[in-house]
This record gives sequence, structure tokens and C-alpha cells, in this order.
Amino acid sequence: MNEFFETEEELQKCFLKWQPRLGLSDWNIGVALVDNTDLDGVAGESEVQWVNKCGTISILKKEYIPDDLLIKQPHEETLIHEMLHFKFFALQETSREEHFYEMMQHQLLEEIAKALFLAEYNLDADWWSESYKEKVESEELFTEPNQWCTNSTGNSAR
Ligand SMILES: [Zn+2]
Repeated sequence: MNEFFETEEELQKCFLKWQPRLGLSDWNIGVALVDNTDLDGVAGESEVQWVNKCGTISILKKEYIPDDLLIKQPHEETLIHEMLHFKFFALQETSREEHFYEMMQHQLLEEIAKALFLAEYNLDADWWSESYKEKVESEELFTEPNQWCTNSTGNSAR
């Protein structure tokens, strides 16, 4: 398993693998690898048009993904997360309650996407933080004081 897609063809192939599994065969969804400027600090984004059953998914190119994340962020898992947004209706965020609901929904989809990814490759839950733990053990992580912040300022899937 490659952690990142090198080409749009790899992304497309992976999308076609998950489309029937997630019950999305009757949807028209365009997928693309995009630059940092197209995504506002997130690893992926989806636009869902419920009426026409179509939409787009944008995935951040691998060169823009920080290499010091606490939790790994493989492209395939981001793709699954974005595809799951086509199963759950998102509310317009006009109140605190809706904003809260929205965040909880992203978190839930992320947990489901992670579980599906682990099952696909027969991995344990430890896999997500494997490389981070190695860094802590080698004390490499604490050479730069601001490294924690890079993880908290974003690059979560949206
Ligand atoms: Zn999300």
C-alpha cells in the first residue's frame, strides 16, 4: 500500500474501488489532486450536490502534507472520509449548535474512514501514530519548539 497517490490515475482507480463498497455507484463524482492554494489548510474537501447526485472531491497533493503530523494521513483514508460526506447530509453552519453538529460529523466520518482503511490493509490502530512514536523515542521531535503547532493548526480532512 502506498501512503500517497502519485498521479490522478491512482486516485481515480482508488475512487472506483470504494465507490460500490460505499454504495455510491449511482453518484457522479469528480476527483482531483490539488495544490495548497485550492484547499484552506485541509487535506481534502468535498462539494456535494444532493439534488443532482453529483459532486467533487479535492485531495491535497502529497508534497503539501507536513511530515511531522501526530497521526498519519494517507491519501486513501482522506478519500474515504470525503466519500462518506456523500452519505451524510451537512447542515449550513448558522448557529453554534449546527457548528457543533458539523464538527462531530467530521469526527465521526474520520473514525469510520480510519476503521475502513485499517480493515482494508489489515492494520492495527497503532499504525496511525507509529512514525510519531519513533520520533519521540529518538527525541527528534523536540528539536524544534513549534513542531506541536503544525499539527494543531490544520491539515485535518474537511
Ligand atoms: Zn469531513
